[in-house]
Amino acid sequence: MKKQVLIIGWDCAAPELVFDAFKDDMPNTHRLMQAGIYGQLESTIPPITVPAWMCMMTSRDPGELGIYGFRNRLDYTYDALTIANAHAVQVPTLWDLLGQAQKRSVVLGVPLTYPAKPFPGWMVTSFLTPGDLNSPLTQSNLQWTFPPRLTREIAQVVPDYMIDIPNFRTDKRAELEQQLLKMTRERFKFARYLLQKKAWDFFMMVEMGSDRLHHAFWRFWDKTHPKYEPNSPFAGTMQNYYRTLDEELGQMLACVDDDTTVMIVSDHGAKRMDGGICVNEWLQKHGYLTLKTEPQGITRFTTDMVDWQQTKAWGEGGYYARIFINLEGREPNGIVKSQDYENVRDELKSQLEGIVDESGQNIDTRVFKPEEVYRECRNIAPDLIVYFGDLYWRSVGSVGYNSIYTYENDTGPDDCNHAEMGLFIIKDGRQKRGLVPTKSLYDIAPTVLKEFGIDIPPAMRGQPIADI
Ligand SMILES: [Zn+2]
Repeated sequence: MKKQVLIIGWDCAAPELVFDAFKDDMPNTHRLMQAGIYGQLESTIPPITVPAWMCMMTSRDPGELGIYGFRNRLDYTYDALTIANAHAVQVPTLWDLLGQAQKRSVVLGVPLTYPAKPFPGWMVTSFLTPGDLNSPLTQSNLQWTFPPRLTREIAQVVPDYMIDIPNFRTDKRAELEQQLLKMTRERFKFARYLLQKKAWDFFMMVEMGSDRLHHAFWRFWDKTHPKYEPNSPFAGTMQNYYRTLDEELGQMLACVDDDTTVMIVSDHGAKRMDGGICVNEWLQKHGYLTLKTEPQGITRFTTDMVDWQQTKAWGEGGYYARIFINLEGREPNGIVKSQDYENVRDELKSQLEGIVDESGQNIDTRVFKPEEVYRECRNIAPDLIVYFGDLYWRSVGSVGYNSIYTYENDTGPDDCNHAEMGLFIIKDGRQKRGLVPTKSLYDIAPTVLKEFGIDIPPAMRGQPIADI
């Protein structure tokens, strides 16, 4: 019989919600869990959508891909940041490897697939696709599908197809909630069309709505959130969205036979956000960063504000911080001598790990050196990767706060940060059932290859999830 593997990705889906809090709202998911194995799936360092999904689809780490986040340094000048796209992925993905074995794939909404490259199958790209994500059918750029004529089928089946919600950091939450549900339903509607109409062996889709949901609505659900609002009109939004994901899953499962291997995965989890640490304020305060003039009020940090002759390090905001060292002979105006590089990094690491909150409690900041967590560091890695408060705090790049703490996000309303643990469920007819120990996101691609009986390339970082 022809082997088929279906993976449904729920971006940011948190194990504590699916396995526990919303369990009773998700009967289809629970049937799948009972018929297979499930557990936590450890994300990449950092646990961020780009590069996490592509790391899952290649079983290579961010260093091996040379993709460290949405934006990456192109060279050692101060302002050369580029937004990653599919051209940055230089190693074979699962669908490339399967294609070499004459298997055909559907790839729907997987981050970092734009522009769609020719391959044996059908592809619709994800967010980071340029143009109007709300109504991509109006754009003339056809590189968001492969083959390009697939856009005609989208126009027939789901004329309102949305790639993503461009402005999910908004205060217009009622509108956002409706958009999220609509986007998700339409994506699954088109997914079912592809499931039924295309001769696929491997089907991989990612729904981004769950990530947007968490960032916009987490505080209305999590009683431990500092901005928790009891009796909010959005109290049931999270639960209702997960119920929708489960209904859509049920309808997907009705389109495949019982022998199909089915996996549910997420690229990382989510946790409440307690606040932000202003990384560049902190670097200034500790003598690593000097600005030419003090900003008047809160200002977006740009590298042209910096007095490089008196700067040892600068940082980037985001769900985690990236810190770059102004190294002599590497950066144009570098001042840190190469023999001092390790000392500066170690000093920074220990000072960052000592950060306390406003009540004086250590917030448990974690700092990574890229060469210690990646097997290789291609392109330009940050010199340090920082999880403020173990990711309960985000990194804020802007300056002019006169404090290292902020409780408003500089890029718009945001309730949650990413957590290291995503989830997986695998139903493939194996003997073992139920909860199993934590697995790695790198294990997914080898597990899929094993399902097809295809040799696992030795360069893959993960192992097939065994029948334990
Ligand atoms: Zn994500």
